[in-house]
Amino acid sequence: MKKNLIFTAACLLFAGAALAQPKVIAHRGYWKVPESAQNSLASFTKADAIGVFGSEFDVWLTADNKLIVNHDKVYKGTKINMEKSTAKEITQIVLPNGENIPTLDEYLKLALTKPNTRLILEMKSLSDIKREDIAAEKIAKALKKYKLVERTDIICFSINACLAFKKLLPDSKIFFLNGDLAPKSVKELGMAGIDYSDKVLRKHPEWVKEAQDLGLEVNVWTVDKEEDMKYFIDLGVDYITTDYPERLQALLKK
Ligand code: MG
Repeated sequence: MKKNLIFTAACLLFAGAALAQPKVIAHRGYWKVPESAQNSLASFTKADAIGVFGSEFDVWLTADNKLIVNHDKVYKGTKINMEKSTAKEITQIVLPNGENIPTLDEYLKLALTKPNTRLILEMKSLSDIKREDIAAEKIAKALKKYKLVERTDIICFSINACLAFKKLLPDSKIFFLNGDLAPKSVKELGMAGIDYSDKVLRKHPEWVKEAQDLGLEVNVWTVDKEEDMKYFIDLGVDYITTDYPERLQALLKK
């Protein structure tokens, strides 16, 4: 009887340890592979193909109030500014893999065909917070239209945007990116967790447990080196966002 109890306890501990492994998030999709590019449709397909937990992407509101998927405010080598240009101008940009910059609509339509990968949607901070409110409303509307609310986590640097999403999508997980608030403050804002840079969490490793004790989750970005991946696995974060998801998957299998 006693032996059985010890065995059961050992199994539970083992299961607990296995469950405690961080989940893998591909940063701007999986783009460090041939025929991909950051935030391209292909990057989502490739992230999905290797079985990541989630795939992150960046969303801007254009000058004509459309939503597009791209990271930099001004596209490298052009004068096209995501906030000041129209969707038509922006989507004419050709990415290194030959695709055009996708609209959010195209991105979400693709996601519908790949139901196993979670969407980690970053709304970029905008110059005008009123425009952030418009962007958040449009994003919430698009997620509802495609019935993707439950499969999407929202991440933002802007507190204004975080709070706007909290109102629009009260049951969604919203993570704060900016790294300048201790977990207690993030909890008070009603967020689901912190999504902080490796630099911030190296400086404040105590925030991981502090956050988890408050019922928050912890995501760290962008962790690309194996030694850094090991550091954050040992620290017990809930998610690791990386440009090298296969490297992290291999490490977690060891
Ligand atoms: Mg991002």
